[in-house]
Formats: sequence, C-alpha cells, structure tokens
Amino acid sequence: MSDLLHEEEIGQWRRTHYSSEINSSLEDREVIIMGWVSSKRDHGNIQFIIIRDRYGDIQVMAKKSECSKRLFGQLQQIKEHTSLAIRGTVRPQEKAPSGVEIIPLELKAFSIARKAAPFMMQSKTSIGIDTRLDLRAIDLRRNILQSIFHIRYTVLNASREFLARQGFIEVNTPKMIATATEGGAALFPIFYYDREAFLAQSPQLYKEQLTMAFESVFEIGPIFRAEPSRTNRHLSEAISIDIEKAFVDYNDVMSLLERMILHVLDSVKEKNKNDLAYLEFQLPNIELPFARYSYSDLIEQLQGGGERIRWGDDLSPQAMKNLPDDRMNGFYFITDWPTSIKPFYVKPKFVPESGRVSESFDLMYGPLEISSGSTRVNRKDELLERMKKQGLNTQAFDYHLKVFDYGVPPHAGFGVGLERLIMAITKIDNIRDASLYPRDIDRLSP
Ligand code: ATP
Ligand code: MG
Repeated sequence: MSDLLHEEEIGQWRRTHYSSEINSSLEDREVIIMGWVSSKRDHGNIQFIIIRDRYGDIQVMAKKSECSKRLFGQLQQIKEHTSLAIRGTVRPQEKAPSGVEIIPLELKAFSIARKAAPFMMQSKTSIGIDTRLDLRAIDLRRNILQSIFHIRYTVLNASREFLARQGFIEVNTPKMIATATEGGAALFPIFYYDREAFLAQSPQLYKEQLTMAFESVFEIGPIFRAEPSRTNRHLSEAISIDIEKAFVDYNDVMSLLERMILHVLDSVKEKNKNDLAYLEFQLPNIELPFARYSYSDLIEQLQGGGERIRWGDDLSPQAMKNLPDDRMNGFYFITDWPTSIKPFYVKPKFVPESGRVSESFDLMYGPLEISSGSTRVNRKDELLERMKKQGLNTQAFDYHLKVFDYGVPPHAGFGVGLERLIMAITKIDNIRDASLYPRDIDRLSP
C-alpha cells in the first residue's frame, strides 16, 4: 500500500466513542473516532490534529518517534475538512481542552478535502454572508451556527411540547393555494396544471376553518412571501408557528403566547447551556405578563417626541427606535391596531371606539416584530363587509365564505416567525443566519 493519503471505504470500522465521551476514564483504551479535521498544527516532529464530530472536538497528537513512518506521513498530508476515522489510544493530556488526547495507531480517510474553505471554522465574525451562503453546508459546521441551530431545534421542540400540553393538535394545511390571505407582501405565482395558483403566505384561512372541527390547532410550516425589499428581517420562505383557538379572544391568545415564549426560553436555558456560553450571553429572565402598549398611545408618544407620524400609519422599526423612553426593550405587546392596516379577517373592536381599532396585537422584541395575532371575524356578513372595504374580490373567497353558513365559533390566533424568534434569542442581526438555506430576492440556491 502506498504511503500517500488515499480515500478508503468505511468497511467494518465503526465509531466507538463521540469526542464528548472520551475522558480520562478511558485511559490506555483503544478507541475509534470519526469526524472532520477542524484544525491542524505541524511542528515537524510532532503534529496536532483536532477532529470534530457533532458533539465537539478531540485532539489527536502524533510524535514522529512514537508513530509508524507511514502513518506520520499520512497525517502530514491531511487538510482541514477531510472526513476520516482514527483508531488510537486515549492518553491524559493536561494541555488538551478535554484533558485527554488520542495517540493514533491507524487512519482511514473517507473523503479528502481538496480545497481550503474561504472562511475560518473557529471565528465568530466572518467574511461576507454571501460567500458563506454559497458554501452553506460547510459554513454550518462553524461553532456559532452550530449553536444557533441547536437552539432553533430546542425552540421548535419546546413550542410543540407547550402547545400539545395546552390541548392543541398539530395540522398541516395546503401550501399551494388559489387566493391571497395577507395584504402587503406579494404572492409567488406557480403553475398548477393548467391554472395559476400561489404559494401560501400563511395558513390563515385553513387554520381558522379547522377550529370548527378541532377547536385548538397549530401548524409549524413554511410561509412564502415575495418581499421586494432587501432587509435583514425578511425571507422569501420563512417558518411560522401558527395557532388558532375556538371560543377565546385576543387577550387569551396573548396570554398563551407569552407563556409559550417563557417555556421556550426556559427550555433553551436548560438544554443549550454550552451554546449560550459559546454565544457569550445569558438569556434575560423575563417576567409575565409582558408589557402591553396600545397602538394609539405609542403614536401619541411618537408625535410628542417630534416624530412625523399619523394615526393609521404602520409602526416601522425606524420609528420605534425613536420612542422617547427605553421601555421598548425585550418582549412587549402593541395592541389595538387600526382596523384599516390589519388584514380582513381581523375583528374590529366595537366598544368604545366603534370599529376604528381592532382586537389585534403584535408581539415585539425591541424594534423587531416577532408575531401578529388577533380575534378573528366569525360572522359571514361582517367578513364580507371587511373584504369589500379592503377592495378584495369576494368571489375568489367563496370556498372560505361557504363554511361561515355552518357555525364558525368565535376564535383567535397568532403566527410567530420562527427565524425572528431565533434572532431575538440568539441576538443575531441578520435573519439569514437563522435559516439553513435562506431564500431572498437575490438568492434561490443552494
Ligand atoms: P413585517 O411587518 O415585519 O413585514 P408582517 O406583519 O407582514 O411582518 P405577518 O403577516 O404579521 O407579517 O406574519 C406573522 C409573523 O411572521 C411576523 O410577525 C413575522 O414574525 C413573520 N414573518 C412575516 N413575514 C416574514 C418574512 N418575510 N420573513 C420572515 N418572517 C416573516
Ligand atoms: Mg404582522
């Protein structure tokens, strides 16, 4: 066999231990580790190679005097990112990060890295996000992204767990649809056999209908929005945690939402200690209930501070930053939005303001919108009127309006943008790093 490093099959070799399982109790034991070369130092007569697997790093140390000539030569040829297995002996080593290192006996390279990655694996700050996204699968090996996506998994699990415990059942609604549900962001048209159809902007109308059969439903799934502007908080394809519940109003679901956020944060604190330590921050201790500010009060405050904003305008993040005090930190709700700037299914509030404001809320984190929710209109005549006021073609919604002849219950719900929530929890400022393969106006691959 040649001394040149070459690619081999896995054959009968199997990993005996993950990096995190190798400690001093295994002293002098033979182990097989598998993973990727994350860094390498060659001092001539001695080589250090760090192998990374899904649970962390382990150091391999080879001395020329202790190693076969062939193995030492192979180790010298190895490049970062090569995937491999090493059979070796565990030895205590004070200076190694885990207190032990592996003295190699044999090496199998599975796939030899041919190029140096254009970014450093260990660095927290990095070069332009587009270069990273072009090689996303490799970028995702970086510690910082590992931490973000481990936290994301906890957030998903904790949300499911919480909602299931509250009696919700998980549903999946169609993503290919015939009509729009949300104003604002545009739809993506698609070919549907011989017709035009669209990718769903939200599960809104379906989840509302499902309250008739199941009362409390939730869906965790993609929403598609043709956002024309380039911002750090909009994706063309995002994941939304949507809920809808019968026989309640917006106050009930606001309370449900803040309890869900609390459960999510508690779970991340418990399950992602290492990730939080790596990201170098502690999650805030939040207290319930979250502060609630009415839209009208905030507009008055903004106007009082000299901002040129009128009642009925949307509250942009730029405007929010100019609020006269710093109460708008962390999580809080903005409630009772003008009916005119909320979608047609949002219920107007009839006392005391006679429909000008709606039973609606946004959950905010600082200037960032995390969720929108509301009580929904549950009577057909009222829904028709709201649609007409917003200039919608009511015929296109016949399939939906029909069910209102059969006892739609009073109901309320919300949609949380998963990536926005991850931004709030991990303090990243570009939403693209909360998505594995982000889609935006400029990017459709990888
Ligand atoms: P924004 O005003 O920030 O554009 P929106 O009010 O249009 O958001 P909603 O229709 O209220 O969004 O959607 C519910 C939630 O889904 C939002 O609060 C947000 O967290 C998330 N969301 C909406 N659009 C996007 C997007 N393009 N990218 C990522 N998340 C989004
Ligand atoms: Mg919204």
